[in-house]
Amino acid sequence: MIDAGPTPVGAEPAGTELLTAVTRGLIALAATPPSTFRLPYPSSLQLALDRVVLDTISRRTPVPRSVPELLSWCRERAPQEWLALPRDFLNPDARLIHPAAGHPTRTCAELASLGPYGVVEQEARSLLTRLSDSCGSPARFAQCRDFLIRRPVLLRFDPMELLQPSLAHTWRLVKDLYGPVPDGFPSDGLVHSCSGCGLLAKADTADGPWCEGGCAPEERKLDTSHQPRQARAVTLALRIFLALPGRTELEVRARLGERSGSSATVLGIHRIPGPDGNPRTYQVQDREQPVPAALRAAELAAGLDEQLDVVVPDVRAASPMYRQSFERALPADAPVRLWSVGEFTADESANRTWRDHA
Ligand SMILES: [Zn+2]
Repeated sequence: MIDAGPTPVGAEPAGTELLTAVTRGLIALAATPPSTFRLPYPSSLQLALDRVVLDTISRRTPVPRSVPELLSWCRERAPQEWLALPRDFLNPDARLIHPAAGHPTRTCAELASLGPYGVVEQEARSLLTRLSDSCGSPARFAQCRDFLIRRPVLLRFDPMELLQPSLAHTWRLVKDLYGPVPDGFPSDGLVHSCSGCGLLAKADTADGPWCEGGCAPEERKLDTSHQPRQARAVTLALRIFLALPGRTELEVRARLGERSGSSATVLGIHRIPGPDGNPRTYQVQDREQPVPAALRAAELAAGLDEQLDVVVPDVRAASPMYRQSFERALPADAPVRLWSVGEFTADESANRTWRDHA
């Protein structure tokens, strides 16, 4: 592994910036339908390759000779093996393209959202901003947002069901956010979704079943449609940055009940009464890479100018490495606290009990 020293706080070293440029190129490539695809590759990917070539030549390390070779590196090797990244910037097993499924990984989407040129999380934000504007009220936006969280993939698209009175208004507002299932997912006339994460899945990669949410095999049950052309899905940005953490957010809100802060902002920020009478601000996240997650959380908290409680799934917080890496990567004065779902909801219950008896 190439080591460029400890993780600099708040800085964006050259290797990290180059890594995010590569990931933005991969996201652009994945968004290019093969039917319209023509050489050259997306310019962002071609430019990223040119920069990796210059970088590797200057460091006298192996040089990728072409885009296909760079793609195979992204699939087979961790980025820290071919870029000079800060120590422990990524998990040791990080890949930008899933080796078996062939799609950009969540790690890739998270990195492509980092820094001033971030694209994926930013796309989700801009789509939700537009939705919020057309909704006209926080309550209506909350209904639409919850619909997208619960149903990011419509495997058997049924217009009649969605035009029932209870759903029709919501569907009219969200329907333009759905499109055909991306190329690469339908296979042999079948398309799959995962009941664990609700996202798109594949039944038979070289490693067996795979889903976008990275569910554990015991949580992953595939639902299948024989009519791929009828299936609809929201964009990758909304699947990864809204629907995926949204599952955990629904759990947090269910546990908090009326105190959950029913309407979220476009950023997924909830404000609830805090123990000292001031609002308590939380956001539920579900990200693979703790260091980029911490840097994004610090950016978000700086923009909010208030303390931000970041709540992550219990299974993620249970990894001491995740917590340690997240907390170590936070800038010294970043007003961010990391909680598991269990810790956060227990703390809220304790606060409520204290107030009820005060
Ligand atoms: Zn899944």
